[in-house]
Amino acid sequence: MAGRPHRIPRPCADCGRLTPGRTRCPKCERVARAKLLSAQPWRAVYDMPAYRKVRKCVLARAKGICEAVEGETRRRCGHRAVDVHHIVPISRALTWSQLLDFGLDPNNMAALCEKHHPQAHRRR
Ligand SMILES: [Zn+2]
Ligand SMILES: [Zn+2]
Ligand SMILES: [Zn+2]
Repeated sequence: MAGRPHRIPRPCADCGRLTPGRTRCPKCERVARAKLLSAQPWRAVYDMPAYRKVRKCVLARAKGICEAVEGETRRRCGHRAVDVHHIVPISRALTWSQLLDFGLDPNNMAALCEKHHPQAHRRR
């Protein structure tokens, strides 16, 4: 009966050095993660204290209620707002200053409920 094979280290997927890690050595893992983050650089906005502040202001302006209006009637949705949505998507920013400009502008944001937020993204 074959026993469990003795565990030996495997090579890092990127540099080939033997590693105790799962697929990459710790160094290549850090590099790979940094690359992944920088592929969507606008996400940096979400980590800014200013963003958290403006998000709070937008929710306060909406009194915690979804700001979406229903088609013809123009009536407010009325559900609890759970997300703050960027009307002009921040992924459209071409420069850092544009990102700060409309990424942190409360007038470019709407408080939306869990139904209207996905809808706003589908409409784009
Ligand atoms: Zn490596
Ligand atoms: Zn959104
Ligand atoms: Zn809504």
